[in-house]
Amino acid sequence: MDYTQQHPFLKQPKKLFIGGDWVDALSGKTFDVVNPSTGQVIVQVAEGAAADVDRAVAAARAAFEGPWSQFKPFDRQALLLKIADLAEERFDELAWLETLDMGAPIARTAMFKRFLLQALRFYAAQAVGIYGETTKNSFPGDMLSYSLRDPIGVVAGIIPWNGPLISQLWSIGPTLATGCTLVLKPAEDAPLSALALAQIMQDAGLPDGVVNVVPGYGHDAGAALASHPDVDKIAFTGSTATGRRIMEMAATNMKRVSVELGGKSADIVFGDADLDRAVAGAALGCFNNTGQICYAGSRILVQRSIHDDFVQRLAEYAKTLKVGHSIDPTSQLGPIVSARQLQTVTSYIDIAREGGAEVIAGGTRLGGDLAGGFFVPPTVLVGVSNDMRVAREEIFGPVASVIPFDDAADAVRIANDTQYGLGGAVWTRDLSTAHRVVRAVRTGMMWVNCYGATEPAVTSEGFRMSGFGAKGGRRHIDEYLYTKSVWLKLD
Ligand code: NAD
Repeated sequence: MDYTQQHPFLKQPKKLFIGGDWVDALSGKTFDVVNPSTGQVIVQVAEGAAADVDRAVAAARAAFEGPWSQFKPFDRQALLLKIADLAEERFDELAWLETLDMGAPIARTAMFKRFLLQALRFYAAQAVGIYGETTKNSFPGDMLSYSLRDPIGVVAGIIPWNGPLISQLWSIGPTLATGCTLVLKPAEDAPLSALALAQIMQDAGLPDGVVNVVPGYGHDAGAALASHPDVDKIAFTGSTATGRRIMEMAATNMKRVSVELGGKSADIVFGDADLDRAVAGAALGCFNNTGQICYAGSRILVQRSIHDDFVQRLAEYAKTLKVGHSIDPTSQLGPIVSARQLQTVTSYIDIAREGGAEVIAGGTRLGGDLAGGFFVPPTVLVGVSNDMRVAREEIFGPVASVIPFDDAADAVRIANDTQYGLGGAVWTRDLSTAHRVVRAVRTGMMWVNCYGATEPAVTSEGFRMSGFGAKGGRRHIDEYLYTKSVWLKLD
């Protein structure tokens, strides 16, 4: 297979999308986008910086106060539905670009079609369902009181590299549904699907300036956007360390902020679980997307009575997962996104070994045909205690730390002994154990006898150092609206 094949989309340097125009960065600079399966540069992308962010925010402000404000709810719905139709037609290109620049296998990105279309159509439905309230009040005479729900204004969407095709929808959808405008900054490691979706939105009739896309580095374009005085809200998805800085920058002019951050989720397997399902479910709950998922079940807590059997089966299962070039349709797991992230992941495996953990599957970078890319096989660590660094820090790679527990109380104690609170799961045949543990684990998402099911219509929210702000579902729309109370003296 030719892994370097060219595509028309990649033949030109990619530009910034500002005010409906495709433009170079004012500095003239570009940066390289690398295919993590091969380590080779696939295209140059214009490198946005503070001056470009100024232009994009100005375009977003002009659209917000200008033509876009005349779009009625059903107009915004029609636009979202048109974008969905075009994205459906051109989905293969979106999936292919995502696969090329962030390395998720094509078998995985092809499955995003359902989610992407559901998201666009879900937010289309929300566009015509924004309601204020009328309230009876106690004032003497005839006084009417009611509330208006209005769009917040210019939103900064800052997203990570681990699934931009989907993450961008979490700001594009509610922006278009509510009548806000957006400056989207994709991650420097994976900007291509955001640029391709911008083209689709433009072709669907997106008014100029409503969505702007400014690829660039976090410390430069990202920081300029997060601290921009004319941005009203930041929708940030990324690491907890950056999320903290985002909140500091947001504080300068009291921007609204939602922060979706890292995790160290506990996948809890009880002795009575259906082990065939639990082994595969826990493996994929951690290793899917090569472990580069915020809610990955990277701490697998296993009841002591089945521990030895379970870890042996988990290691065997991990070895069956096919790691390969991301555009090979038979690959189940692709590379790690970048050389830098590869270094982070392998150094955590070293730290685990030095701390006394045993590697029973994976553990070293892959060579041979895969030597040019950034490949680490699914790695299972046993002999891990919850106070070891590999159990406390987010690795964001295909590394599962298995930790034994005695009973439900012990499992809950270990699961909650973390700074994070994003995802988690329970595997058991006992309904009351499942319910009790789900209730007691302090996270934003819990699964029972499965892992990672999500849909745009379902709300979830991070907790503790995993951030806050509703994502998905009707409550997500509220994050893009503010409430104005109105009092009318009628007599
Ligand atoms: P990151 O924090 O390094 O970068 C995220 C985005 O922020 C990128 O666009 C980056 O350019 C930008 N950025 C970096 N520094 C910045 C700064 N000083 N000012 C403004 N912007 C800046 O995260 P990452 O490595 O790209 O992504 C991985 C992280 O994202 C993991 O921690 C993962 O758990 C998290 N994540 C969370 C969710 C969620 O929904 N909770 C979803 C996906 C990923």
